[in-house]
Amino acid sequence: MTRTLTLLGATGSIGASTLDLVRRNRDVWQVEVLTAHSSAVELAALAREFGARLAVVSDEAALPALRAALAGSGIEAAGGARALVEAAARPVDITVAAIVGCAGLAPVMAAIERGGTIALANKEALVSAGEVMMAAVARHGATLLPTDSEHNAIFQCLAAGRIADVARITLTASGGPLRTWSQAQLDAATPAQAVAHPNWSMGAKISVDSATMMNKGLEYIEAYHLFPVGLDKLAIVIHPQSVIHSMVEFRDRSTLAQLGPSDMRVPIASCLAWPDRMDTPLAPLDLAAIGELTFFQPDEQRFPATRLAREAIRAGGSAPAILNAANEVAVAAFLAGQIRFTRIAAVVEETLQRSHDAPAPASLDEVLNVDRSARAQALSLLENTALV
Ligand code: NDP
Ligand code: MG
Repeated sequence: MTRTLTLLGATGSIGASTLDLVRRNRDVWQVEVLTAHSSAVELAALAREFGARLAVVSDEAALPALRAALAGSGIEAAGGARALVEAAARPVDITVAAIVGCAGLAPVMAAIERGGTIALANKEALVSAGEVMMAAVARHGATLLPTDSEHNAIFQCLAAGRIADVARITLTASGGPLRTWSQAQLDAATPAQAVAHPNWSMGAKISVDSATMMNKGLEYIEAYHLFPVGLDKLAIVIHPQSVIHSMVEFRDRSTLAQLGPSDMRVPIASCLAWPDRMDTPLAPLDLAAIGELTFFQPDEQRFPATRLAREAIRAGGSAPAILNAANEVAVAAFLAGQIRFTRIAAVVEETLQRSHDAPAPASLDEVLNVDRSARAQALSLLENTALV
């Protein structure tokens, strides 16, 4: 029996990992929709290869190129933000949400509102919309399958017990490529150094988030929404080998961990096959070759992002959406060579301080408004402090 699949963000890193699994199981999957932002030629090639019914570029300016590249294929082409949301609302068996940033929020909400099953990699959407998204999931009977490796690990460990019996959930963090750098070295870190992740191959934005530890901050907020145990039971530990993807400790002090190669095809496969299992092309875990697993406390002096995220989710309301929006703006500025590495967290903190009276968003539109004004605030900070 074939299953239908929509992949939001098909031209990215998670998109490629998902399509690798689909390519190996062509008889199982019918690809309905593939989307990108502006990579029209790449998207058209994927749509042709997988026989998609519809290809969408959210950047409308890329639609002519998409149309040209799909000419004669019989594949429908569409462009613009509205087309993206309409595509995400089409009924399918599973939607893989792999757009980067809050830009993925509206299509994820569209998939939720039709009660779909969503494999959620796009953590910024959940961080920004928090309660609004989780309320929509409950209201529409949607199913969120956590695809982020840590949350997928926790989801798998939770199959062994009840959430009421959880004493602690520990997110593991690699610490990123700059984990051992001094403050002075961090001040001078370049984009190339920040995206050179030791264990994972990922898109540029999440690679920088991993280097600043904001990725773990976003994941802390993501875990708070996905697994209702309360903030006091959420912890973070540095584990540079990225073999243990996260852990759940129950009240009898039994701790369950999920281990595996640092390859996103593992958590993606667990979502695609859920509640069953499927083969992946990965080598078996060789613990003797890995040799040792080590663990450290996070250092919030050099890497303040996890503190900022914890404070934002404790403050609640609009703070997580502001944190995320400011981080997106600051990371883009860092990648463009406009600000220093250590300014990223500073811009996030200053934006949060300046936007503290923003009301708690109660709908998708209100979340998007908070996101927009926090971006404007962060941008104005950048204009005043460029190159510092
Ligand atoms: P990439 O940057 O590699 O890919 C992003 C995808 O989103 C591309 O298809 C891109 O299209 C599309 N896109 C970019 N901007 C927009 C926009 N404004 N509107 C619509 N679509 C857009 O990202 P990743 O695959 O690394 O990450 C995707 C998500 O998954 C992120 O939220 C990330 O945090 C999360 N994640 C990623 C992991 C990884 O290993 N990569 C691990 C865990 C979570 P185009 O090519 O046209 O720009
Ligand atoms: Mg992760």
